[in-house]
Amino acid sequence: MSYILKTVNLTKAFKGREAVSSVNIHIKKGEIYGFLGPNGSGKTTLMRMAANLIKPTEGEIEIFGDKLTDKSYEVLKRMGTIIETPVFYEKLTARENLELHCEYMGYYDKGAVDKAFELVNLKDIEKKPVKEFSLGMKQRLGIARAITTKPEFLMLDEPINGLDPIGIREVRNLFKILNKEYGITLLISSHILGEIEQIADTIGVINNGRLLKQVSMESIREEDSEYLEITTNNCKGAAYVLENDLGITNFRVIENNCIRIYGSSIPQSELSKTLILKDIAIDSINRKDVSLEDYFMKILNGGGISA
Ligand code: ADP
Ligand code: MG
Repeated sequence: MSYILKTVNLTKAFKGREAVSSVNIHIKKGEIYGFLGPNGSGKTTLMRMAANLIKPTEGEIEIFGDKLTDKSYEVLKRMGTIIETPVFYEKLTARENLELHCEYMGYYDKGAVDKAFELVNLKDIEKKPVKEFSLGMKQRLGIARAITTKPEFLMLDEPINGLDPIGIREVRNLFKILNKEYGITLLISSHILGEIEQIADTIGVINNGRLLKQVSMESIREEDSEYLEITTNNCKGAAYVLENDLGITNFRVIENNCIRIYGSSIPQSELSKTLILKDIAIDSINRKDVSLEDYFMKILNGGGISA
């Protein structure tokens, strides 16, 4: 497996207190990785280490397969980053800011700035000084700056913060275009699941500096997205019937009066008929959806569940 970003037991402590603890993150080439965690969980600290802005206390970082060191200038040219709020020269225009950036990065492609403005939809205001920009416009300008040099890997720290619903939809589409059409791998952090669940291929959940879970959205959707819930005062008997008479094995006994059956297409009528015929009293059978919100809240509150 080829990873764009991989960390090995990455740890950062500030005055003896760990902000990032032994994190092993794996971001695959070509994917959109959603980095989810509440405020203060360590997202920005991890990204700052990956961008070589601060040094890890312990552990290693590999970017594009190479170990990140103090001298990794070339590697950093292959990535674009926005960490926390993007900072600009406020008196200069949007275009001047991007041109300066290209110069600083040693990137000389005349059309690149135009293309970036076009992609983020700022073409008509590129000649305005940045001090007249709203926060949302600055976020988009930040994205434009990060993509002008055509990076292979984009690392965006809470890029959806401060955008209105239309802006959110626009940048989401932009992320998809950058990923699908330009083949850019993206790491996008957020403290709000709804902001990333629709576009992420993989989600990493961090809390208190620890990576609690790293899971593909595909497997979450397949896994536990829907289940049948049976309530009965005879869980033991019901479990026996499920296994031996119906051949169902993917179920879980929740508390002592409830069973959840996952991934089975058995009709409710057949299920209740079989249980009743075996003298199992059923209080109710319901088909339910597990919302992603519930799924991630469980991980955050429970300290993680095994993959
Ligand atoms: P997030 O980006 O997920 O909101 P951060 O990475 O910014 O979280 O912060 C993680 C923890 O590290 C927080 O408790 C924060 O106060 C602490 N922290 C971050 N940067 C510093 C710093 N430069 N000095 C001291 N503590 C810091
Ligand atoms: Mg942060």
